[in-house]
Amino acid sequence: MRILTVADKKDEKFLRQKTKPVNLSAFAKAELRALISDMRTAMSKAEGIGLSANQVGLPSKFFVAEVPDSKKGAVKFYSIFNPEITKQGGELVELEEGCLSVPGKYGKVPRYERVTLSGTDQTGKPAKIKAWGLLAHVFQHEVDHLNGILFVDKTKELYEVPKTERLKKGDGSK
Ligand code: ZN
Repeated sequence: MRILTVADKKDEKFLRQKTKPVNLSAFAKAELRALISDMRTAMSKAEGIGLSANQVGLPSKFFVAEVPDSKKGAVKFYSIFNPEITKQGGELVELEEGCLSVPGKYGKVPRYERVTLSGTDQTGKPAKIKAWGLLAHVFQHEVDHLNGILFVDKTKELYEVPKTERLKKGDGSK
C-alpha cells in the first residue's frame, strides 16, 4: 500500500477531497478484513498512529488508528467506518502533530480535549467511543482527513524537527 503525500500534486488534490460514506453491504467480509489488515500494516510500517482510507488512495470514509491507552499504556487498535465526531467538549488543547501524508513537518494543533466518535465496525455494528487526550486528537485528525482537511491547515507554525515526542509516544494522562 502506498501512502499518498502532499509532495505529489495529484496526491495532494486527492487528499483534499471529501471522502464518501462506505456502504458496507457492498463488500465481502473477507475484503473488509483484508483492507483493515493492509492499512494496519501500512500504518505500523510507517510508524504512524492513524491512517485514513484516502491516504492510501481510497475515497472512502474509513480510518484505522493504533494509540497507546492513557492509563495502562497498552496499544489499542481501532478501525472505524463512517466516523463522525458527535460530541466535543473540554478546552482546546494544543498537541504537536505530524502526518504520514506530510512527511518531515510538525506543528501544534489546537483540538478539543474530549470527543465522542460515532461510526460502525466492519460488520455495521454501531461503535461509539468516548476519547480524550491523545486519542481525541487522533480521532479529530483522522475525521479531518476524511473531510479533505490536513493538520497543516490548522497549525500556526510548521517546523521540521519535532519539539516534543508527545504524539509519537502518547500522552493522554494529566
Ligand atoms: Zn494525517
